[in-house]
Amino acid sequence: MGEFDLIRRHFQRDSGPAASVVLGIGDDCALLQPTPGHQIAVSSDMLVEGRHFFAGAEPEALGHKALAVNLSDLAAMGARPLGFTLALALPQADDAWLTAFARGLFALADRYACPLVGGDTTRGPLNLCITIFGELTPGKALRRDGARAGDDLWVSGRLGEARLALERRLGTAWAQSVGPLPCGDQRLDLPEPRLALGGALAGVAHAAIDISDGLSGDLGHVLAASRVGARVQVDALPLSPELARLPRHHQIDCMVNGGDDYELLFCAPAQAREEITRLAQACRTPVTRIGQIQPEPGLTWVDSEGHVLPLPARSFDHFA
Ligand code: ADP
Ligand code: MG
Repeated sequence: MGEFDLIRRHFQRDSGPAASVVLGIGDDCALLQPTPGHQIAVSSDMLVEGRHFFAGAEPEALGHKALAVNLSDLAAMGARPLGFTLALALPQADDAWLTAFARGLFALADRYACPLVGGDTTRGPLNLCITIFGELTPGKALRRDGARAGDDLWVSGRLGEARLALERRLGTAWAQSVGPLPCGDQRLDLPEPRLALGGALAGVAHAAIDISDGLSGDLGHVLAASRVGARVQVDALPLSPELARLPRHHQIDCMVNGGDDYELLFCAPAQAREEITRLAQACRTPVTRIGQIQPEPGLTWVDSEGHVLPLPARSFDHFA
């Protein structure tokens, strides 16, 4: 199978006309048509074998995750998907692998009406890079630099499950003690981008980020960009039943420092509490208030009695 056969066979589809795609796969560039007056949101995320996933990982799940992490960036911005490109390095053209990969990729792409419009295919160590394009109304983007002192700090879903599943897979002793982990495995392999919630929060929340590297690190990015601090109620963090089976210090470590959850962390004025609860219910995404933005820089973790917990920040950094 040659390069162009591979593209035609696995990635070029007669999908119905997407309003946003004027020209898809097959030319030197794709042509996208955003809704008039909208801004384009662009993001790239790369998954590297041995770095972001284990060698031999299930290809259908990889197809899902490669796109999910990119859709999550659009969600964190409050943008609506328009389409994406896929740059793929493959050690060989393995038909069964490509079929399963494309199945996982397109199942998610179709759910969010986000068509594949182009890409690049080369031979090399397995590497998946997606660039995604979305659109949003000017002024409504959920930027990292919009948090204000007094804002509530919210998080969607539950934290730490992906980290627990990862530690189990790595054979870490404390993580082995909790028994089977259907939720955690699902979270690690098939993360669900919070697009409905992100879109609903655009123009309501002041700032947002998706939690890919861990709450402490990702919240740190928002605080630095917004030049503010935060006080987080550790006992308010959304704990999963699987994590609840661990000793408390492991629970906290997974929720505070665990990456790969792809939940949304967002800041919003206290007057928006009812509206946010309503919006979250409408998109069937649980949300939890976990703290407050403070005028003084710094991140403070407190327990339910208000005692400060000295938690080391250990979120993920590829070059640390
Ligand atoms: P060029 O040499 O002009 O960059 P290519 O020969 O690399 O174009 O690709 C031919 C067409 O196939 C282009 O439209 C490109 O966007 C598309 N394409 C290549 N690889 C992929 C892929 N993995 N997924 C989707 N489209 C792809
Ligand atoms: Mg090319």
